[in-house]
Amino acid sequence: MNKKAKRDTKCCKCHEKFEVAYYRQDPCLCKKCTRNKRLSNKVKELEEIAKPKITNQYCQYLFNLYLQHLHQYKIKPGQVQQTSDLIEVFSKNNFKRISSWERIIHESKKFKKKYGEKHSCGCPFSKIGNILTELGVISPKREECGHYYPRLFDQLSTNSVKIVKSFIERQKQSNLSPHTVIRRLEILVQFEKWPLSSNLLSVGTLDLQNYFNALKSKGYTHSYILQVYINLSTFYRWAKSEKKVFINPCDSIEIKNGPKQIVVCSESQCKKMFQFIKNPNSDPEQAMLLALILVWGLRGEDLSFAQTDFNEKRFKIILRRKKLTNAKYYNREQILELPISPQWFYQLQKKFIKRWHIQYGQLKNIFPKYYLMLPRYRSAWPLSKSTITHRVYEATLAAIGEKIPLRVLRKTCGHLHTIHNDSSLLSRLGWSHHYCFNYTWVPKVYFSSPKS
Ligand SMILES: [Zn+2]
Repeated sequence: MNKKAKRDTKCCKCHEKFEVAYYRQDPCLCKKCTRNKRLSNKVKELEEIAKPKITNQYCQYLFNLYLQHLHQYKIKPGQVQQTSDLIEVFSKNNFKRISSWERIIHESKKFKKKYGEKHSCGCPFSKIGNILTELGVISPKREECGHYYPRLFDQLSTNSVKIVKSFIERQKQSNLSPHTVIRRLEILVQFEKWPLSSNLLSVGTLDLQNYFNALKSKGYTHSYILQVYINLSTFYRWAKSEKKVFINPCDSIEIKNGPKQIVVCSESQCKKMFQFIKNPNSDPEQAMLLALILVWGLRGEDLSFAQTDFNEKRFKIILRRKKLTNAKYYNREQILELPISPQWFYQLQKKFIKRWHIQYGQLKNIFPKYYLMLPRYRSAWPLSKSTITHRVYEATLAAIGEKIPLRVLRKTCGHLHTIHNDSSLLSRLGWSHHYCFNYTWVPKVYFSSPKS
């Protein structure tokens, strides 16, 4: 009888079953892992070559970040060539400190221009950018606006691009948040794209009125139209002061504020949600998410960037602090220490922490970052706005069978805190006095989910 040439075994790296032939060099590794080991050795050889070549310290630092990223995942064949090209870039150039995604995108374009897309494994600079974000050296790409400008300016006609650019420059100097400035530009771009009968600077009142009517018939909300109106009006006021137009076409149009109201959850919806939070069989992440919004009024952004601290047996949530514009200030504590009573809430924290550790253990991280809300795969990154929105929907669906938006839950939080006409609690959530005061008098409307 022939001796079997092959046997089944488990790969000692990825633990997947594979058939091993006796003649193989490394019988412990599967085909995939063998290939990965070979590629990884090639990259290590390149690393040795790079050491004397890259003399600039900052370039060395960036190159090391790239390597850390590379070794974290399976190396793709193109990445060997990419590494060697990157060594060339880093050994020939001195890099100024990278402090924004705008720079990353700039470097990325330069790299692509020189080496093309032959590596077919993504751009090394965006990887470096991701790690710098993970380290907190630069802010997340989605929060930065710089790289949107060129794309938006490109969409303007040659007649208006110069004037709009100087308007935007003026806006940038006026202490507005970068998002507000981008919003202004977007609104102007959209307005110009709408079939205008003339160019941006010879627009008349009739054009504007038609535009607002068109928006309305397309189903845009009143508050959106109001926002468009305010932004266009700002533009034309500036254009008039610069003597680019004689009259502000917005002056003879009036768009009123809609009726003031606060949309909150009904009593029965609140009751069901709190039952869900208290129920020991509920999903701990969903229950905690709802509790943090309904009781502590956390925003989506807070939830994305909040980090945990489970030391000293107390559950603490550390909120992100970023640079604020327009003389705003934080009036809420940065560290939120969750209370250990009532008992059910303490139990919920314990369950949440247990689940969190399991999830965290499944993620790949170069640098430890203990985000409160964890992604379901890859590395621990702050969740995007849309993922948070999605998770909140999942939670409210599980709790009461309805999709309730985060903003309604937050307003419900304000409503629950002021139900006895006392807005003092709200200021503890870090809300402004003006905003809190609204809760004492603005009429409340109960939220009902749109029927599908
Ligand atoms: Zn393997």
